[in-house]
Amino acid sequence: MKIYEFQAHKIFSKMGIPSPRGEVAKTAEEVKQIAEKLGRPVAVKAQVLVGGRGKAGGIKLAPNPEEAYRVAEKILNFKLKGVLVKRVLVQEALSIKKEYYLGVTIDRAKKRVVVMVSPSGGIDIEEVAKISPEKIFKLRIDPLLGFKSYEANELALALNKDKNLVKGIANILFGLYRTFDEMDCSLAEINPLVVTEEGSLFALDAKIIFDDNALWRHPEINDLRDLDVEDPLELRAKEARISYVRLEGNIGCIVNGAGLAMATMDLVKHYGAEPANFLDVGGGASSEQVGKALDIVLSDKNVKAVLVNIFGGITRCDIVADGLIQALSKREMNLPLIIRLTGTNEEEGRKRLKNVKGLFLAATMDEAAKKVMEVVKR
Ligand code: GDP
Ligand code: MN
Repeated sequence: MKIYEFQAHKIFSKMGIPSPRGEVAKTAEEVKQIAEKLGRPVAVKAQVLVGGRGKAGGIKLAPNPEEAYRVAEKILNFKLKGVLVKRVLVQEALSIKKEYYLGVTIDRAKKRVVVMVSPSGGIDIEEVAKISPEKIFKLRIDPLLGFKSYEANELALALNKDKNLVKGIANILFGLYRTFDEMDCSLAEINPLVVTEEGSLFALDAKIIFDDNALWRHPEINDLRDLDVEDPLELRAKEARISYVRLEGNIGCIVNGAGLAMATMDLVKHYGAEPANFLDVGGGASSEQVGKALDIVLSDKNVKAVLVNIFGGITRCDIVADGLIQALSKREMNLPLIIRLTGTNEEEGRKRLKNVKGLFLAATMDEAAKKVMEVVKR
């Protein structure tokens, strides 16, 4: 889960990382007022969940409040890299002497958290990695020992030899590492960390991505979610504890188990059709759960046919059948519904579904996938 720059700045501040003073605004008038309050030249920065805003024209400097109003009018309510800008961050502009990169993420190959710094800040780290990889300094952290102060000092020294700055950079690295570790991030990044002409350090930009699998440990993070930019169907699925990912095709798939869901999508594609989604109702799914899954799939306007593929282990086929019948009784179903049920209580499940109109009961997965292709090609 990504959050906005202004939200990440707030978290960094709590961890002792200094950011330029600033506030968020939704209108040009508010931008002007904030600029007046700051009483200095400002940077007006589009708040969108995509990177490279500077290059795309989403960051503009303004020497006075009137100019801040003018540039805000050019950023607010315009699209930046395809995303509507609803808010800007108005930050006091700094006189920049140096820009560094600081980041903490996971090195999957090494199975370690990696702390990275580079003297080439302000540009994409992927780009630095391509053009001048020797300018990226990496340190993998031993999970048992944690991040040590001599390690932080070493990394800081790779950026700057000034004694006072080394201490400051090392402290910021600690704050960044703590954020990453305590909040279960997959990325915590400052790009750029700047040294001003006056010799102070500031996180000019702030980026945090949380590991979705650990969000349950941090209920407070959920409040940071921007519901406007998330797929409403994916949110509904999340609430129902259903794994759901929307895709481009038109075959709605309801499956139990992630592996079977993948196999089902493969098979649908094999027969020349395209899945509209990945959906895993999970093990031991209740009839309510199955009903919710059907509701979610049918809410996708692209769906032209539904394929239910259940392998009953812990999940019982009769319960799945009940869930489907209940869900169907509550709505008008005018799409073809193809069902393959096998495993625990299969006979009972099939018996219950036999009398339901508009269903096609397939004996095998193969038959089900073929059938679903036929009905959409018709
Ligand atoms: P990003 O492009 O989305 O990564 O946004 P950043 O916040 O990293 O800003 C991009 C670049 O804009 C920075 O690397 C700076 O060079 C420049 N910039 C941003 N804020 C200021 C500022 O207050 N003063 C100056 N001089 N430049 C700034
Ligand atoms: Mn940046």
